[in-house]
Amino acid sequence: MNDAIQNLKNAVAGSDNIVFFGGAGVSTESGIPDFRSADGIYNKKYDYPPEKILSYSFFMQHTSEFYRFYREKMLYPDAKPNKAHYALAKLEAEGKLKAIVTQNVDGLHHKAGSLNVLELHGSCSRNYCMTCGEVFPLEAIIQSDDIPLCPCGGIIRPDVVLYEESLDQRIIQKSIRAIATADVLIVGGTSLNVYPAAGLIDYYGGDKLILINKSETPYDRHANIIIRNSIGETLSVT
Ligand code: ZN
Repeated sequence: MNDAIQNLKNAVAGSDNIVFFGGAGVSTESGIPDFRSADGIYNKKYDYPPEKILSYSFFMQHTSEFYRFYREKMLYPDAKPNKAHYALAKLEAEGKLKAIVTQNVDGLHHKAGSLNVLELHGSCSRNYCMTCGEVFPLEAIIQSDDIPLCPCGGIIRPDVVLYEESLDQRIIQKSIRAIATADVLIVGGTSLNVYPAAGLIDYYGGDKLILINKSETPYDRHANIIIRNSIGETLSVT
């Protein structure tokens, strides 16, 4: 076992106030590709780049096209949590992990049994009517074949933060509080290039910042421990 893994194990063993911050890389091991990465979900089947399709104005103007892309590229109803999700749920159950802050919208942390999950970008598992506010499960989106409609006639939209929309300030504040007061901060599966990831990490004031990512990040020089390996394998040794 190399030193970085041993240091990670020691940090986890010695703390009951761990916070995990994660991105798309946490879910790639569940078969959900990162739509921002070069070999991600963007291929030439659509006339617009994903960032454009996943924007609020596109949703409002081309709702049908939005849902065609969204169903094909954003929804993975059969995806299962992987070793990383389960390892984090176990650490929370043991009283060691206090919060998960995630950029993912796939709901896999909840599926793995985690309770305190701060979903910065919302969740595909939650949907609501834009007219009356009625809430709907994922099935309402999957089972409709064009624009999903509420019985009231309103359009159902996913409770995810689209481009051009602002993040939920309550979630941001809870995330800042968790990160600022954490003893150990484990950051995994994110290149830390996407707003507001990097800004949130800045609130951490401790000396146990652990980065688990296959490629370099702008935060590597701030990290106390860097692990370049699979996040699932890495976390399952803790
Ligand atoms: Zn409605």
